[in-house]
Amino acid sequence: MKYLMPWALVCALAILTPAAWAGVRVFACEPEWAALATELGGERLTVTSATHAGQDVHYIQARPSLISQLRRADLMVCSGAGLEEGWLPVLLRRANNPAVQPGSPGHLLAATVVPMRGVPGDVDRAQGHLHADGNPHLQVDPHNIGRVARALTARLAELDPAHAAHYRERLAAFEARWAAAIDDWERRAERLQGLRVVTHHEDWLYLASWLGLEVVGKLEPLPGVPPTSAHLARLEAEVAERPVAAILRTGYQDGRAADWLSGRTGAPVLVLPHTVGGEVVDLFALFDTILARLEAVAP
Ligand SMILES: [Zn+2]
Repeated sequence: MKYLMPWALVCALAILTPAAWAGVRVFACEPEWAALATELGGERLTVTSATHAGQDVHYIQARPSLISQLRRADLMVCSGAGLEEGWLPVLLRRANNPAVQPGSPGHLLAATVVPMRGVPGDVDRAQGHLHADGNPHLQVDPHNIGRVARALTARLAELDPAHAAHYRERLAAFEARWAAAIDDWERRAERLQGLRVVTHHEDWLYLASWLGLEVVGKLEPLPGVPPTSAHLARLEAEVAERPVAAILRTGYQDGRAADWLSGRTGAPVLVLPHTVGGEVVDLFALFDTILARLEAVAP
């Protein structure tokens, strides 16, 4: 009897506590889409992010753990426009999961639902740089977050039709909070109009367009090409003639070129968050933080 008791207990527990329901399994390539999915799906989703805020998403290893996450996913949401070109196609091939293959409802690329910026001409395209399909760093305009929110909700409702109303209600609640936040950011951004900046990579194009910042130049001569001394010297001459308010970079980018230009010109270096992570707890905090740091250098 003493050997049977544990089994009886296990059986009783199995009946009383059904296996944890995983819900719709969402594989996000970037933390901002994981955060957005969580806003829109709540407890009905199990969300994983393939990358974190400290990584350059252009360069990610197609690790076995990511392959197995994508194999189990019902829905994949990524920026697209070539941002994940170096690893997502490998993951999709190896995961061999029909639910998330291109063309299926479980395959969503943000770049397909927002107006693309920085689409290069034929000459730039021939140079084969990282942004040959247009600029993929589209998450730093909150209007794009809103566009992806609507597309993501439509996919969730399609994949989990029994709870379509739940997703639509959550979208409506998110959109109301998001619209109010955008009003606040845009009111604060009035004094940022025309603010001149240099950026490390071509990753603040959408932010600059949204806020009316003037990107005077990039530390990288071409997207993905490390700064060269000749290019930096030209940029220094330009900044010396017409000063900039700040040099923008993200936490994962090598700070040496930004520090060098800052030392030569006196322009401060601003390290801005580009996604959710660490002290940036959600999408609202992402734009609050970006705005606060820009306001600190505005005249
Ligand atoms: Zn890039």
